[in-house]
Amino acid sequence: MEPFEWRDAPAADFAVVGDPVGHSLSPRMHQAAYSAVGLSLRYVAIRVPEGEFPQAAENLRELGYVGLNATLPHKLAAFEWCESVESGAWRFSAVNTIRLADRTGINTDVPGFMAMLESRGVAHGSRLLFLGAGGSARSLMAACWDSGYRLAAWNRTPGRLGELVHDLAIDAEILDSPDVTGADVVVNATSASWSGEGLGLDWSSAPAGCQAFDLAYREGGPTPFLAEAQKFGIATCDGLPMLVEQGALAFEWWLGREAPRRAMLASIGL
Ligand code: NAP
Repeated sequence: MEPFEWRDAPAADFAVVGDPVGHSLSPRMHQAAYSAVGLSLRYVAIRVPEGEFPQAAENLRELGYVGLNATLPHKLAAFEWCESVESGAWRFSAVNTIRLADRTGINTDVPGFMAMLESRGVAHGSRLLFLGAGGSARSLMAACWDSGYRLAAWNRTPGRLGELVHDLAIDAEILDSPDVTGADVVVNATSASWSGEGLGLDWSSAPAGCQAFDLAYREGGPTPFLAEAQKFGIATCDGLPMLVEQGALAFEWWLGREAPRRAMLASIGL
């Protein structure tokens, strides 16, 4: 379904806001959750161009929306719009879940990602290579550093990555190219997959046991990034398990009841 434009937002209770946002499976997943527990709520996708988050959030608040999920490129803008955020989000200045009435924000991407690392058996102390320096890379790198992982990182725009590492006061090896040598896990935290682009990594230099994670996902097959890794026998995981966990945690924070994870997983084919 095509997303709504924020100036034409319909009556609803919750929304995911981003640009692009038409690909988002969040509406399907949250609608399935409401049906599973017998709530008549509505969750929609709304396109909000970069730079328009504050006006859009005000508008949706006035329309009576209860909460928003902020996706790319709005996680920093969402943080700035909030009047209070949970302590973890202060650390990395990125929020993905907002309660509009009291302008409060939390970050559920981080626990969603940590659950994925745990389920894939990634031990603390492993070396993680992050690709990207946007809102998601910022929060996940901070959390992984704080949890005892070793970090390396590459970004298309090197200056942005340098700022991120400096702001977060983390010790990450900054690479000139996305070189997977020595990486136990390679995390694609860029948005390249949404435009159908791989990153052209040389997977032949990956160590044995290396895994590839893409925060993005694609219905009906692997993302271009994961397809490239699979050609070299690398174990892969896309962003769907993380999507479900971050969505379930948002559901629980907004509604104060346990999320029906099984129905949410089933709604997106897991
Ligand atoms: P963002 O703030 O917009 O950052 C985008 C990043 O991607 C930047 O580092 C940008 O590099 C890089 N990039 C974009 N196109 C590229 C290309 N063609 N080649 C190389 N790098 C490119 O986005 P975000 O919020 O961090 O999100 C990043 C990704 O994580 C998205 O795919 C998002 O959907 C996904 N995500 C998934 C979940 C989940 O639950 N599964 C949760 C959070 C995020 P520059 O700095 O050079 O522009």
